[in-house]
Amino acid sequence: MDDLPQLQTLSEEERFAIRVVSQVFPFRINRYVADELIDWNRIPDDPIYQLTVPQRGMLRPENFDRIADMLRRDAPQEELRAFIAGIRSDLNPHPAGQVSLNVPLLGTERLEGVQHKYRETVLFFPQSGQTCHAYCTFCFRWPQFLTDAEVRFSAPDSGQLVRYLEQHPEVTDLLITGGDPMVMSTRALERYLDPILKADNIGLQTIRIGTKSLAYWPYRYTTDDDADDLMRLFERIVSSGFHLAIMAHFNHFQELEPPAVRKAIARIRSTGAAIRSQSPLVRHINDVTGVWREMWSTQVRLGVIPYYMFVERNTGASHYFRVPLARAWEIYRAAIMHVSGLCRTVRGPSMSAAPGKIEVQGVTEIKGEKVFVLRVIQGRNPEWVQRPFFAKYSEDAAWLNELEPAFGEKEFFFMPEMRARVAAAEARDAVLAREAELRDEESSFETA
Ligand SMILES: *Cc1c(COP(=O)(O)O)cnc(C)c1O
Ligand code: SF4
Repeated sequence: MDDLPQLQTLSEEERFAIRVVSQVFPFRINRYVADELIDWNRIPDDPIYQLTVPQRGMLRPENFDRIADMLRRDAPQEELRAFIAGIRSDLNPHPAGQVSLNVPLLGTERLEGVQHKYRETVLFFPQSGQTCHAYCTFCFRWPQFLTDAEVRFSAPDSGQLVRYLEQHPEVTDLLITGGDPMVMSTRALERYLDPILKADNIGLQTIRIGTKSLAYWPYRYTTDDDADDLMRLFERIVSSGFHLAIMAHFNHFQELEPPAVRKAIARIRSTGAAIRSQSPLVRHINDVTGVWREMWSTQVRLGVIPYYMFVERNTGASHYFRVPLARAWEIYRAAIMHVSGLCRTVRGPSMSAAPGKIEVQGVTEIKGEKVFVLRVIQGRNPEWVQRPFFAKYSEDAAWLNELEPAFGEKEFFFMPEMRARVAAAEARDAVLAREAELRDEESSFETA
């Protein structure tokens, strides 16, 4: 942070506030974001400033003051660390059952670095792709960027993944994600991808790469030393018969303005890869209809296909970033209304919740009761997909767990099965833990 000239121009107080908040949340920014994306004449309101620089409001005032006080009086490290750990664990660091429910088994072992929630699509977290070029203040993966965090969900290579894909021919899509896999060198990426490209007993059709690099470091595709090699790799993926989809994370049309990103988009498309875009709707950053309208129409002009508008997850500093579902739907609808049909490929607002991706389809009144119409876009059980269901209207609910079923029903239709699945996953993890213990005991007998 200290080597960015723009941050030097902030007041002492502003710099101290950043220091306080970045005790709890990870902070990383780079020269491209500072020079090309942030309009420093508009801070603190500039959306990219809000997106990348920790904001005072991200901490509750009492927590802010406690940390500020500890820093001012140079409190012992242990005191600071314990207090910060307490705040973090109150912030729902692992939302939507990612740890217990999504990690699949290969034989009797948990397959680390892989998540399999929806039948067709497997997520893969390569170990060397678990950071990002800059960090988003609202990121739901924030705990993994902390220096003292154990990096969960990451795989050293793709050998076990290929074996898993061989055993699961129903998987058509592989989504390589992070962090940001595009922080990796082309050579590292190739090392993960080659075994997949060579495998012949798998049902894979699409390789997706989830990345924020087009917004944070477009030079990855243009002038980086191995940018040309990367283009050759993309071409090789396409000529191996896969659909290559770059799942680009864009939050604001400002990110699409610099010539470098436009050049990067053109280069990627020339390899035969498609670029789809997705973004959460976040207060202080893009909770304005015009931002979405302009972002989607610019994307279509550049050949990027709008794909998802997400609801900001209920983790981290969500009190600062949350947008109520009712408002999210209004923004989505007002934006969609004013763009061409080619932009209306985007679905949303969608919550990636424990049962699945749940879309707010609208607000209406049925027999005198005001309700949200919801539908399951993706379900942990494929049978749930496209099922409409209803929740009582609420002005400020911002996540599935803040909604109540409409029409006096006791619970949403997927709840009994979700409980059974959670119980089964817990039982499974208990058995695995016990087996691991027994193995440890055995090997300690052997060495004794
Ligand atoms: C969003 C998501 C996917 C991909 O879903 P699509 O609707 O196919 O884009 C896959 N796995 C998980 C865990 C997800 O959250
Ligand atoms: S780029 Fe993605 S993973 Fe990285 S900080 Fe931003 S939201 Fe999180």
